[in-house]
Amino acid sequence: MRFSAALALYVLLADQGMTDSSRLEILSSRDDDFLGLLPYGEDSGSRWFCLVVVTWFPYAGKCPKSQACSGRTMKPTNNSARNTSWQLAGSRREFLHDAAHLALGTALLGSFPGRPNVSAKKRKVVVITFGGGARDQETFAPEGQGNIPHLMHELIPQSSFFTQLVNRGILGHYVATASLATGVYETINNFASLPPEHPTVFEYFRKDLRRPASDAWVVAPSNGFNRMGASDYRSYGAGLGAQVILPKHLLTTALSSGHGDYQHLLRDNYETPYYAPELSGSEFELQQLEKILKVSVEDFKAHARTLSSPDELSVYVVQQLMRQEAPSLLWITMHDIDIAHAGAYSLYIESIRRTDRLCAEIWNLIQNEPEYAGKTTLFILPDFGRDSDVDAGGNGFQHHRTGDASSRTTWMMALGAGVREGVVFDRPLDSTDLVPTLGAILQFSPSLARGKPIPELA
Ligand SMILES: [Zn+2]
Repeated sequence: MRFSAALALYVLLADQGMTDSSRLEILSSRDDDFLGLLPYGEDSGSRWFCLVVVTWFPYAGKCPKSQACSGRTMKPTNNSARNTSWQLAGSRREFLHDAAHLALGTALLGSFPGRPNVSAKKRKVVVITFGGGARDQETFAPEGQGNIPHLMHELIPQSSFFTQLVNRGILGHYVATASLATGVYETINNFASLPPEHPTVFEYFRKDLRRPASDAWVVAPSNGFNRMGASDYRSYGAGLGAQVILPKHLLTTALSSGHGDYQHLLRDNYETPYYAPELSGSEFELQQLEKILKVSVEDFKAHARTLSSPDELSVYVVQQLMRQEAPSLLWITMHDIDIAHAGAYSLYIESIRRTDRLCAEIWNLIQNEPEYAGKTTLFILPDFGRDSDVDAGGNGFQHHRTGDASSRTTWMMALGAGVREGVVFDRPLDSTDLVPTLGAILQFSPSLARGKPIPELA
């Protein structure tokens, strides 16, 4: 569909009384280029601005919120984004079918979840997100499967695997993770210490179910995530959010000086090395290391010396947290794979292999901790993908700057309580579907989230 025709349809639908959001949804379903329009502004004003810019200056304009869109430029594309997403999903399904013997799940085959032998009140959910996905060439494709042996042979065969999770939001790690946690595509500046604008899953969970602060935790990779535990939305907010642990901040505080032996654990992000926000507010305080995690400062420092990456430090903190606090809602964001931005292929591969191992370690922790075993559902998903090699604007495995279908089309697996094992689903899901799905599982109402519960899981 040409943009001028799209604009005409947009106006026509307005005449029929449809909301901005409904009209843009219809347009995006008709024209793949609109997939790229949706992220840039939740309010109708900015959407109109995007629409008008692209309509009148079809192939010349940058996104009007250039900082927010990670440098993406709008340009013509020969391949439809939706077709590319379907192709990615289809090839993932084939890879998994061949290597892990997963069956294709459909509603007709009765692929809905089994009921766990535990009440909703006792159920727990652990969410692992990756800050920065990896290409299929290095993971699910036959030539990449050697990098993810734990996922391929241990976790995926026990999972319901969704091959097409589309992120229509801003491709920056903090804002994308915040969006996953609110079920709304957030538009906050990715490089600012700001809370999400909509209530987080933690606030819905704690407010609706009257859970204490100790029952919802976030372990986050970067000091820039220090506000992700709670929004500033009225009637929700910090008093109802999750407690956030920033392992690097914790280690920095524990060291107080002499960071020499620990530099490899302390790099805050891989895109803007000089962005290091001042921490304030609800960050985890050092005294809580001993009080909550039950680890002395000296033991923490000694253990950290044995670790090779920030994500290993995070998983160590997760292990202590699960044993000491056993939160019912635990969100872990990992970030090692994003070292891909440095451009060193060997480091990128090494981080994929480490992430694969750490996911299996967390799954084993869940199996072996009495507070979690048998009643926990684990979700694993990247926040988004990486640019395509074949796209003219792509730049290999390194970045996620073009906003192309490859960088938007990621995957998700769920395993554990209430999840049917060994099934692959390739219909499109949206990143905003995660929070409503968690709400259906734990029985809280994420009233402002935009996605829908995934029926195969909830
Ligand atoms: Zn990145």
